[in-house]
Amino acid sequence: MRPLDKGIPPKDYSDHSDAKPGLKARNGPFCAYCEMPVRDLGYVDHVHPLANGGAELDWSNFLLSCFFCNRTKWDNNQNRQGYLWPDIDNTDLAFEYNKQFIIKPLATLADEPKQAAQNLINLTGIDRTADDSSLKDTRWRNRNEAWAKAEAMYEAWQTGLNQPGLRIAIPEVAHSTGFYSIWMAVFATVPEVQNAIRQKFPNTYQQVDEHGRRIVRPGALI
Ligand SMILES: [Zn+2]
Repeated sequence: MRPLDKGIPPKDYSDHSDAKPGLKARNGPFCAYCEMPVRDLGYVDHVHPLANGGAELDWSNFLLSCFFCNRTKWDNNQNRQGYLWPDIDNTDLAFEYNKQFIIKPLATLADEPKQAAQNLINLTGIDRTADDSSLKDTRWRNRNEAWAKAEAMYEAWQTGLNQPGLRIAIPEVAHSTGFYSIWMAVFATVPEVQNAIRQKFPNTYQQVDEHGRRIVRPGALI
């Protein structure tokens, strides 16, 4: 899951829905949870739900969300405790993606972050398939399209032909298709393309240590 650096509030808000343009400008027009493009749609999700005492107008309590993640999550978390969050944790280190199992916590995680990663999957339903989605929940279809596009681009890259051109084109296709983590998974063995994609998705948290390894975010579970 793409870890997000949301930065400081762009402005003060008197209505939480006014934060939508600011969230899209800061981190791109993607659901923070399932990573589906939301473009002209999308919701300002109160990470800590209002009904459970979350702050209504606080930038730090906002994440851009698709309808399905927002609706599945609903008021089901009492607060942020016990879950990983893309604006707090280095969620890049927490999940693995695959067409068969969709998304799951990395097997190598310690017990606490592993449970918190699984709790976020359960809270948002981002591992739903066509079989267990209601007909209205189209996240699986968009996700499968992203896998198909990413794999086609990977095949094109593997031919070795026009890689300089593909290095420009692939991030553009990835950005319009969304599902950042799927692109990262498909191009796992091609760091130069991964880096080009990462740069196309604004303000992706990418703190690394002196050896280039991802580090745990300060104050986070991972
Ligand atoms: Zn979503």
